[in-house]
Amino acid sequence: MPGPETVIFGGNTTCVEITTDSGKTVVIDAGTGIRILGDSLLRRPEIKSIHLFMTHVHWDHLMGLPFFGPLFRPDFHIVVNGCRKCFEGLQRIFSSNYIDGAWPVCFGDLKARIDPPPEFPMAVVALDDVLVEQHKLQHPQGGLGFKFTEGNKKFVFLTDNELTEEGWAGACFKDFVNFCQEADVLVHDCQYFPEEVVSRRGWGHSDTKTVAKLAIETGAKKLILFHHDPWRTDKGVKEIIDRCAQELDRFNCEISVDAAREGAIINL
Ligand SMILES: [Zn+2]
Ligand SMILES: [Zn+2]
Repeated sequence: MPGPETVIFGGNTTCVEITTDSGKTVVIDAGTGIRILGDSLLRRPEIKSIHLFMTHVHWDHLMGLPFFGPLFRPDFHIVVNGCRKCFEGLQRIFSSNYIDGAWPVCFGDLKARIDPPPEFPMAVVALDDVLVEQHKLQHPQGGLGFKFTEGNKKFVFLTDNELTEEGWAGACFKDFVNFCQEADVLVHDCQYFPEEVVSRRGWGHSDTKTVAKLAIETGAKKLILFHHDPWRTDKGVKEIIDRCAQELDRFNCEISVDAAREGAIINL
């Protein structure tokens, strides 16, 4: 939702770039942010391949792909991984059979080499010295979250995930506590305030109070609140941060908390 009310945190949908110590480029999701990432990658000609980890197949996580510049470069290689059914979704955007053609270029005419995810997804993927573990999301139609471990550094990325004590799909709160233990950076969906989430149960998103609880119980060092509601303005996102910080304060917890911002860079 780009516009004058989203200039601080940005208005694009999910796309996160990770650079490993060994120089590999990992991208999570192909939301509208991937258009800007494509421009950035083309300005770095030493990068000729990426590992694209898809969380799930919802539209806001796929819709930027047709605008990803490296798709049209024959020397570029994209290895798709993560949620396997996303590969069909990524192709379908380009299919002329879908709503009589959603895009004028066919998937088969894209110039980059694009590898599908493995037929039998592995629980742990090794990228040089980085181990990528996957965890089922609690979200309509399912999906995956990821944990990246490199040496003693840990980065956990869980978006489109509804934290509830008793899991209604995927996994319950305790499972996520186990998965997220001692993350240096924990990125978690925090789309709602607690008073909003009660009427949105089953939508697959979390609230400030429960996300703060997860950060406290897992001993996260830094918490990044992710997946801002499309109706949330910059002012509203600041309130999301404040409410989460108040919750952390209530337990005398000194975890650093911020909201995801377009273009933000975090060094681990
Ligand atoms: Zn979703
Ligand atoms: Zn989403």
